[in-house]
Amino acid sequence: MAYIYPKTYFGDKIINTKDANLSIASSAILYGLSVYTVFPVIVNKDKKLAFRLHEHYKRLINSARIIGIDTFEPQWSEAKFIKAAEEIIKTNGVKNDAFVRASVHVCEQLPGTRSRGQKTVLSIFIYEAKPILPLSGARLKTSVWRRIPDYAIPSRAKVNGAYVNSVLAKQDALDSGYDDCIFLDTSGHVCELSAGNIFIVRDNILITPAVSNDILEGINRKTILELAADLGMKVAEREVDLTELYVADEIFACGTSTLVAPVIEVDKRKINSGKMGPITGKIQKSYLDILNGKDKKYSNLLTTVG
Ligand code: PMP
Repeated sequence: MAYIYPKTYFGDKIINTKDANLSIASSAILYGLSVYTVFPVIVNKDKKLAFRLHEHYKRLINSARIIGIDTFEPQWSEAKFIKAAEEIIKTNGVKNDAFVRASVHVCEQLPGTRSRGQKTVLSIFIYEAKPILPLSGARLKTSVWRRIPDYAIPSRAKVNGAYVNSVLAKQDALDSGYDDCIFLDTSGHVCELSAGNIFIVRDNILITPAVSNDILEGINRKTILELAADLGMKVAEREVDLTELYVADEIFACGTSTLVAPVIEVDKRKINSGKMGPITGKIQKSYLDILNGKDKKYSNLLTTVG
């Protein structure tokens, strides 16, 4: 298990992580009614940098809006949220790259299956950053479990309960000896991995499923689309067939805890030569430079948090 830092922001104060608990009778526990986001903190020699805090706050708010959790947004402005995040990062004296998980929990007890007008509590805790896929190359399996459609549980909302879908698919992939799964939508188009978005390269065009293809609107996906456009690459957001993966020149996954991970095999089919491709390599390097604050052009995406 990854190391969890000892202090957590909970409600409106900092407490010991071991004391940051929710009732077994809360909606968060009963129905998985919490929305969340995870952002990285990169520790450089002289400072700590948090990546795209504005987008993470916005997605948290959007997730709450979709689910109908309406008590968080009026209480938590972006400035207040960012101040709380900074405070908890400083209090824990984070020394190595870390992930910060901010969640809005519906803590009302036994309210029945509803979301409006319910008490909420914000938690922010920090844990050691460990990539979830091998950066040397991941092997993926198309899942027998389909991605939850927008008309059932919207993938666009990062809601805890929906992650049962990811657990089913990831465990199925692990049981079969793969690193992760590929989710298809109900009509068989490619969506994403259990906790990361997917890109393929065909004839020098970078292609990724569209936001209307039952995916989480990944913040790193957005970053890579912006970066690729800046590098002069052709990009397309469109439906992707499963068999396009088998014949792709390159495939990679992206996400906060995935970084940019080359995919070298899908369903026992080697992707091209079975090694990281040149476009993936270029994107991976440029992305890591942005994240580590080495690319001044993108320094506006980073907030100094200590
Ligand atoms: N899809 C899913 C299902 C995820 O859980 C994640 C991780 N948050 C992503 C994509 C990637 O999103 P992000 O780039 O914002 O980390």
